[in-house]
Amino acid sequence: MSLLPYYRELGDTGLRLSPLGLGTVKFGRNQGVKYPNQFALPSDQAIRNLLAQAHDLGVNLLDTAPAYGTSEERLGPLLKGQRQQWLICTKVGEEFDNGESHFDFSARHTQASVERSLRRLQTDYLDLVLVHSDGNDLQVLDDEVYPTLQKLKQQGLIRAFGFSGKTVEGGIRALEQGDCAMVTYNLKEQSERPVLDFALSHNKGILIKKALASGHLCLAGEDPVQQGLKLVLAHPAVASAIVGTITPLHLEQNVHTAVALLVSQE
Ligand code: NAP
Repeated sequence: MSLLPYYRELGDTGLRLSPLGLGTVKFGRNQGVKYPNQFALPSDQAIRNLLAQAHDLGVNLLDTAPAYGTSEERLGPLLKGQRQQWLICTKVGEEFDNGESHFDFSARHTQASVERSLRRLQTDYLDLVLVHSDGNDLQVLDDEVYPTLQKLKQQGLIRAFGFSGKTVEGGIRALEQGDCAMVTYNLKEQSERPVLDFALSHNKGILIKKALASGHLCLAGEDPVQQGLKLVLAHPAVASAIVGTITPLHLEQNVHTAVALLVSQE
């Protein structure tokens, strides 16, 4: 069982993504998160095993961010020798220090943040960099961050860039000016669906965050993972749903479910 035959194009970026990506918030941060249960950060060996399992299942996309605590700096050494087998997505704009988030969308911070991600992830390029919006999406897009990412793309440090926002207006503007958007879309929350529709008609890429409503979806209902992934993967603009997990059984179950859905759509 593998996602390999079902890779999808991320808009017109030339990147081909597994339809499920691996979210790595829980690799590095367990404070100020909205998951249903508390958890301990996994050991290096547990992450190493999870990465190997994800690769074996055909997952090629890892989603991290400076705001995910130690996620980036833990991934760097663990990915040593396997850079080519992954597409790495990280973010700029949000910092999480001493239990609190703060935001900086200036050119100087954007440049420094990308350079720091390159160092932490021990690589000389990033496949995708997304703006981690604070929710004031249009204001953020008027700031220096997007032009700076465009410049970094021209310099070859990043292959594509986009926006992880919270509004329809922001998502659409972000797609007009960039390569892709990361959108919340799940059985409980579909208000940003117009962003997906816009992406489809303009050949732009969509990544889904919180496909399982940060795990809250899994607490009730009949086969919530199947229902949740069915909704998300059915939209043709969606290149990949980034599902966060540190539980090997869940990773296997999610991929299994996604493959079954994709087979049935053929
Ligand atoms: P999610 O993927 O909707 O849900 C993750 C939660 O669901 C985890 O607590 C996980 O627990 C649980 N889970 C996963 N598979 C399961 C299964 N088969 N059965 C039962 N429970 C299951 O939510 P998310 O982590 O908030 O979002 C996904 C990713 O999107 C993040 O990791 C991150 O990379 C990205 N994200 C980005 C932003 C942004 O602003 N850019 C915001 C939020 C998230 P276990 O670990 O026990 O499996």
